[in-house]
Amino acid sequence: MSTRDFIEKDYYAALGVAKDADAAAIKKAYRALARDLHPDKNPGNAQAEAKFKEASEAYGVLSDATKRKEYDEARRLFGSGGFRPGGGGGGGFPPGGFPAGSAGQPFDLGDLFGAASGGGGARAGGLGDLFGGLFGGGGGGATGTRSRQQAASGPARGQDVETEATLAFDEAVLGVTVPLRMQSPGSCPTCHGSGAKPGTAPHTCPVCNGAGVTSRSQGAFAFSEPCRECRGSGSVVDDPCATCKGSGITDQVRTITVRIPAGVKDGQRIRLAGKGAPGRRGGPAGDLFVVVHVTGSELFGRSGDDLTLDVPISFAEAALGTTLTVPTLDGTVSLKVPAGTAGGRTFRVRGRGVHGKGRTGDLLVTVSIAVPTTLDADARAAVEALAARIDEDPRPQVTAAVRAGGGV
Ligand SMILES: [Zn+2]
Ligand SMILES: [Zn+2]
Repeated sequence: MSTRDFIEKDYYAALGVAKDADAAAIKKAYRALARDLHPDKNPGNAQAEAKFKEASEAYGVLSDATKRKEYDEARRLFGSGGFRPGGGGGGGFPPGGFPAGSAGQPFDLGDLFGAASGGGGARAGGLGDLFGGLFGGGGGGATGTRSRQQAASGPARGQDVETEATLAFDEAVLGVTVPLRMQSPGSCPTCHGSGAKPGTAPHTCPVCNGAGVTSRSQGAFAFSEPCRECRGSGSVVDDPCATCKGSGITDQVRTITVRIPAGVKDGQRIRLAGKGAPGRRGGPAGDLFVVVHVTGSELFGRSGDDLTLDVPISFAEAALGTTLTVPTLDGTVSLKVPAGTAGGRTFRVRGRGVHGKGRTGDLLVTVSIAVPTTLDADARAAVEALAARIDEDPRPQVTAAVRAGGGV
């Protein structure tokens, strides 16, 4: 769905609801339409199918509060029924800036609403953001007139940034503070973001007097357009900064220290609000997303918030009972193994697992019976004597199945 759809299509009309309809009314209207127009109910009826698609598309936008806001904003800014620049002659914007629409071709804002902050939490926050996104990427800026895009618009939220961090097992379990090196756009250090060569300064655009927007009337309508002279920025740079080519923004490497919370899992993506790229003109910083890789532990396994640990014990310990000392992530703990413990039995040590959200997991200790690999003559005689003294069948179910001739 393009922004062009946003401008051209009346989703409220498609659902037959008022522009201020609440979420419940929109849902109700859509359900009624979907029921009546469903292709299963109207086989071969192309008109019903088209209307069904229209209603579904409309509902997809209006039922999502963020999309609905963007839609309303697009319609408010550019009017319903299509904003068509260039229709009256002399149309189009400078190359690299606005697409120069030919007569009758709808003005396509492209993915204006999605591109501004690199995928994550793009938000169309009004005219400033619209034009910021529009001019940010294009241009090339070789003409010497390309000026800093933000001059006439309000504060802009910084980009969301994604990075990765590899943590040791215990760091992931206990939480850790790590330095992260990141590359993201920031204010150009040479011109301090002005876009002008050091020693010079941008001056207010003489065409729009710094507003960044000019009005044009066409028939009965007046349109606001981004100023062509300054490309919507409100200021003009005569001598662009060589470092950033006049954009005021360069890619910068920075190292930040972030606290990874306890209990993160391998592959988890955690969000650190406000740790992304810095905002411009005092705008809030974007968010940082860290994809966590956790290396394995030689000792512990992990099942959710529980830690697992395998502990071999001798036959004598299993038969007679013992008290084991086992390691935990912090310190050790004593574990009583009762006489007659079978191999494979799991003991739960409460509260010695991973400190998860709201709950601390347990340590699950599973014992296995270790068998000596070599026996000297005396030991062998002792084991044989022991075997002769034990009548208990270690595998009664298997014995019974064998007696029955096998099978299930
Ligand atoms: Zn610069
Ligand atoms: Zn201007």
